[in-house]
Amino acid sequence: VSSLINTQVAVIGAGPAGLALANVLRRRGIGCVLLEAETREFIEGRPRAGFIEEWAVRALERHGLAERLLREAQRHTAFEFRFEGARHLVDYGELTGHHHYVFPQTELVKDMLRAYVDEAGGDIRFGVRDVRLHDLESARPFVTYTDPVTGGQQRIDCDFVAGCDGARGVSRAYVTENGGTFAVHDYGIGWLALLAEAPPSAETVVFGVHERGFAAHMARTPQVTRYYLQCAPGDDIGGWTDARVWWELQARLALDGEKLTEGPLIEKRVLGMHNYVVQPMSYGRLHLAGESAHLIAPIGAKGMNLALHDAFLLADAYTSHYALYDASPLGDYSAACLRRVWQYQEFSQWMSDVLHGPSAGPFRAGLAGARLRRLLASRTARTAFAELYIGKNADH
Ligand SMILES: Cc1cc2nc3c(=O)[nH]c(=O)nc-3n(C[C@H](O)[C@H](O)[C@H](O)COP(=O)(O)OP(=O)(O)OC[C@H]3O[C@@H](n4cnc5c(N)ncnc54)[C@H](O)[C@@H]3O)c2cc1C
Repeated sequence: VSSLINTQVAVIGAGPAGLALANVLRRRGIGCVLLEAETREFIEGRPRAGFIEEWAVRALERHGLAERLLREAQRHTAFEFRFEGARHLVDYGELTGHHHYVFPQTELVKDMLRAYVDEAGGDIRFGVRDVRLHDLESARPFVTYTDPVTGGQQRIDCDFVAGCDGARGVSRAYVTENGGTFAVHDYGIGWLALLAEAPPSAETVVFGVHERGFAAHMARTPQVTRYYLQCAPGDDIGGWTDARVWWELQARLALDGEKLTEGPLIEKRVLGMHNYVVQPMSYGRLHLAGESAHLIAPIGAKGMNLALHDAFLLADAYTSHYALYDASPLGDYSAACLRRVWQYQEFSQWMSDVLHGPSAGPFRAGLAGARLRRLLASRTARTAFAELYIGKNADH
């Protein structure tokens, strides 16, 4: 080992979870070192989420991380189901009093990096290799990694490790190999995730529920629109030419006499729709936050919101430990996160059955139709749905 570092919390991964956590710890004077496998340029340019729920925006605001978001983000309060050739508006803002804020994940990541690195002088190491966690069951765990420039091995001694390293990180295995369970669900469905250099074709999110398969339209910026198209899981991207993509989008989303505004497709990839949950989210002095602990297919636009939820709970639990000598919030951390995680997983399954039902044979199409009609006819059903859609009152 060529270098020894001492800190209180070693945070692995600078996605939304790791960055939110590190920012709060830094502001509260709790020592932390953030380790990230990629470069800063790479993580600032990785396009993903866009919809942030109001409670999460309020939490970012409380921690001084929402200044530009509040200035620039569009607010969304309604979406449209299109099915059987008609539009059906669901005004969830009116039903819940909460909004969605549309702010690309890349922009939030940039703001949180700027706040942590450039403004607060926080310690972050980019491009690290071969991260390993050690002695997590002891009172003094440590993390080792290889420095990308010198090739030397570094060691960080710490009190806690926060595993915020996403779906393909290293920390999850320490929980599942030490008694944690890995609950997994595969929807057996693929989505083509698309970013089009084309202005949005509607003011709201549009969910096209169609017998050819599901399709969605989501405004991102005045110049860029996200689209999704249901496809076979593991479908070959080469078969999806721009012309075929636009033809399917028009068929599933455009109503009579209308046309979506087309443009070059700047991102095109096939996503498998699957979910998992690791329980518990802690092992010894390791706590998982975000996608290292739970993956949720982008059906309900929930993943980044959950990552932020975990991060703020974990920051508060570490604060209780250090400032109040109270370890109970850390003990309760996993259970507190998992309550919302399971509410969102259940919502995602419900939504998936509705969105993918019409292309899944006559029985599942019949069920999907019944759910949609109930939703549209009953304000009570719509309110219960809307609360889950915007994540209000979801901690039970
Ligand atoms: C196409 C798409 C659309 C989405 N849309 C939405 C949406 O609208 N709303 C929403 O809420 N969510 C959405 N999501 C989900 C959202 O992007 C994720 O849930 C979110 O990024 C999770 O944050 P995280 O911090 O847990 O993980 P990540 O963002 O994956 O961050 C993990 C970080 O850890 C780093 N890392 C990995 N391994 C190591 C290692 N060994 N050592 C050090 N660092 C490591 C990675 O490089 C990465 O920077 C979408 C996802 C996709 C793919």
